[in-house]
Amino acid sequence: MTMSALGEPCVLLKLGEVVLKGNNRELFEQRLQANLKAALKDIGVKVDVRQRHGVIALFLPEGTGVEIADAVAERVSHVPGLIWIHRAWKVAKDPSTITKAAIELLADRDDVKRGVSFAVRSRRRDKRFPLTSMQLDRSVGGELNDIYGLPVDLKNPELVVSIEVDRDEAFVFTGGLPGQGGLPVGSSGRGLVLMSGGIDSPVAAYRMMRRGMRVDFLHFSGIPFSTSESIYKAYALVRALDKFQGKSRLWVVPFGKAQQSIKASGQERLAIITQRRLMLKTAEEVAHRLRSAALITGDSLGQVASQTLQNITAQDDAVDLPILRPLIGFDKTEIMAEARRIGTLEISELPDEDCCTLLAPRRVELAAKVADLKQIERRMDAEDLAVQLAGSLQEYKLED
Ligand code: ATP
Ligand code: MG
Repeated sequence: MTMSALGEPCVLLKLGEVVLKGNNRELFEQRLQANLKAALKDIGVKVDVRQRHGVIALFLPEGTGVEIADAVAERVSHVPGLIWIHRAWKVAKDPSTITKAAIELLADRDDVKRGVSFAVRSRRRDKRFPLTSMQLDRSVGGELNDIYGLPVDLKNPELVVSIEVDRDEAFVFTGGLPGQGGLPVGSSGRGLVLMSGGIDSPVAAYRMMRRGMRVDFLHFSGIPFSTSESIYKAYALVRALDKFQGKSRLWVVPFGKAQQSIKASGQERLAIITQRRLMLKTAEEVAHRLRSAALITGDSLGQVASQTLQNITAQDDAVDLPILRPLIGFDKTEIMAEARRIGTLEISELPDEDCCTLLAPRRVELAAKVADLKQIERRMDAEDLAVQLAGSLQEYKLED
């Protein structure tokens, strides 16, 4: 058989929550399309992004190789807002062409040679098509059964041959890549992630991007009293997360001297929580400059002493901006599994000199009182210090 029956490679995208968006749906779809185009800008071929009824089709130039189509699918599988990515073949929408394509799709597959059970599942987004979905299933399924001798299993097939009929064309495919789900980045405003080199904050960032936020990253380094290692780590993490939103920016504040003055204030049990409040106050200043409407942290309730309910409440008190904590109800094992899946765990687990090791008190207050914290802050002019720290902000540009 020649390769002509399969038509052209393309990529078919199934939308997630975007489809629930009622009147705003068009805006969400436009945002998603813009994000897809941005993600594919340097893929090497011109990709034609087309909205179909409830799906998006990415058409590739005639003669595009399968490797490129695979690369396109892989790239967009990181773009929030999609639930499935199918490497499909675009064929003319007539029953015999569709059948030929389905036959060729199964040729030379190892699982087909093994005799897997299969089912054909058709969907018509164009109801004028001459066959009903069920008729198409039966007719294509019958042909495949004749040719390959595979058993049909409608309930639990090992292999599903999908056919989708649209207004201008039909798509034929098997399998697919799961997407990220969520909403298109940029549809939920901007946030500023407080990014340590740890496991939690990158996952928190991912979670908020997936809810449609565009995020900037802010890292506090122990410089000049520690090395730049923590910055490299934050940088590597931001690079790994960039596939979800593109154009990520990392900002760094040298925090060592501020930590020294916290240490000098002598309130050992409150040092960690004082430090966290100062980070948040500084982050709030930075957020105003970057037009971020929220701060994001990797806090998880009770995970460490600074994350008791009282101490978290004492942190909220430090700033006016909302602090979003998407991991608040996650277990560490769940956070680690997610970090592994999104590709940040390996980086987070590299050793580094966290800025926070400068302040490692033997005992940490579990229920800090805001009045006590404010007293310490008055003595060290925390508000001025935060403005000053925000003034020493530096951007670390991501290389392409
Ligand atoms: P992570 O794994 O994200 O470091 P953690 O479990 O180690 O979190 P903490 O060190 O108490 O917890 O930090 C809680 C949150 O405070 C972090 O998730 C992060 O948002 C913020 N944070 C802590 N250290 C820094 C830092 N050096 N720079 C920026 N943000 C920080
Ligand atoms: Mg940490």
